[in-house]
Amino acid sequence: AALVVAVDGPSGSGKSSVSKAVARRLRAAYLDTGAMYRAVAWHVLQEGVDLADADAIAAAARAMDLDQSTDPDVERVAVGGVDVTAAIREDRVTETVSTVAVVIPVREELQRRQREAIAAAGRMVAEGRDITTVVAPDAHARVLLTASEEARLARRSGQLRRAGAGERDAGTLHRQVAGRDARDSTVSTFDRPAEGVALVDSTELDFEQTVAAVLAAVED
Ligand code: C5P
Repeated sequence: AALVVAVDGPSGSGKSSVSKAVARRLRAAYLDTGAMYRAVAWHVLQEGVDLADADAIAAAARAMDLDQSTDPDVERVAVGGVDVTAAIREDRVTETVSTVAVVIPVREELQRRQREAIAAAGRMVAEGRDITTVVAPDAHARVLLTASEEARLARRSGQLRRAGAGERDAGTLHRQVAGRDARDSTVSTFDRPAEGVALVDSTELDFEQTVAAVLAAVED
């Protein structure tokens, strides 16, 4: 039977790794919608699109040929046949992504593709910023995953280290994460969950406990 789980949260909340683990447990597909916005950012940088030209960004997003794995065990994103799995995590993309994500027609295009992917998969865990509210408000389970700013910074730092991005001093990391949160706040705020959305605060939980808390919301 179809089973759609929507997970939203800010960067560093652990939503990607937690959502992947939940998808494996439920034998469901996994959709990283942040990777789609990152793919648009990579694509406009690659094409040399003027970042001040919202119409040009929207046109590039609509024309983008995106191929994204929805297997929680296979991380692969390709644009126009080019593997951009690693490139979309680079700083230049992370710094550009909020600029493309606030362009309304870009959001509409990606939201349309996301709904299509969810319908095609049937069983899917989709994560992002607006999945519980806009993309899949009728999902079987909707979860807002939060964590204190301190915990989010610590996780982001660990992520960058594992990705081989090197050490970053605490001040720089704080500026990067706080800056992205502020730019993203026009898209979504995570002060409180929307009506009917379960709140999971992972600040005091380890990874397995967080996965269990999300699964508990699915079983409710
Ligand atoms: O999840 P991740 O940090 O990779 O997301 C990258 C960016 O994509 C976010 O900072 C946000 O600007 C944008 N995004 C969005 N809506 C989503 C998912 C991501 O606007 N559903």
